[in-house]
Amino acid sequence: MSDTTVNADPQELAKFSELAHRWWDPESEFKPLHQINPLRLDWIDAQAGLKGRRVVDIGCGGGILSDAMARRGARVLGIDLATKPLRVAQLHALEAATPDIEYREVSAEVLAAEQPGQFDIVTCMEMLEHVPEPASVVRAAATLAKPGGWVFFSTINRNPKSFLFAIVGAEYVLNLLPRGTHEYARFIRPRELAQWCRDAGLDVVSSRGLEYNPLTGRYWLSDDTSVNYLFGCRKP
Ligand code: SAH
Repeated sequence: MSDTTVNADPQELAKFSELAHRWWDPESEFKPLHQINPLRLDWIDAQAGLKGRRVVDIGCGGGILSDAMARRGARVLGIDLATKPLRVAQLHALEAATPDIEYREVSAEVLAAEQPGQFDIVTCMEMLEHVPEPASVVRAAATLAKPGGWVFFSTINRNPKSFLFAIVGAEYVLNLLPRGTHEYARFIRPRELAQWCRDAGLDVVSSRGLEYNPLTGRYWLSDDTSVNYLFGCRKP
């Protein structure tokens, strides 16, 4: 990316800003993020150890993951390009007296130029599928990590099953998410994400699928990466 272009889709940012005031309501449009949060938090913590670590959370939104990581003892910087979700995140941190947390409106690419190699852990969850050039965010995430550091991504696979589950099921049948939350063409196959990671100099060391049972309303991590999935990477 050149300095004058921002790797963001204004419509996507507006969508998240519109809903921002409901971000911390566990029964709102953000219910799925609240429900999956303990799973991804434990998965990250088990591999990278959050306590005392310097973390940047790219596309942090209202701060569901950022806040939880800070409560596990990490020093967290949450970044996003949508103004309202960031304000909500800041307000929540203030009200909940979350320790060691800071939020900034800055792109991953600009922060990477400013603070390369400064973070023990970089997280970027449920964000790449909303961005025009996801590979550029992957490169920025790799740049932000210290040598030996960790980079975690989560996103949605692209195949007929993910179309059925993540769009038809989640947005039209179960109404878990507002219609138009996700665009099929922006979904990312694990093979594509793995290639971008390797191109950015990261080693992909772990991956998990995130499954959902609509009857019980429960989520769990599994080996099935066909819909939602997570990657854990290390910077050599
Ligand atoms: N990572 C958070 C929020 C996911 S929602 C979580 O998992 O809990 C997706 C977030 O990505 C929104 O907050 C949206 O504003 C942000 N986003 C979308 N495009 C972005 C971009 N180009 N740069 C930074 N953040 C972006």
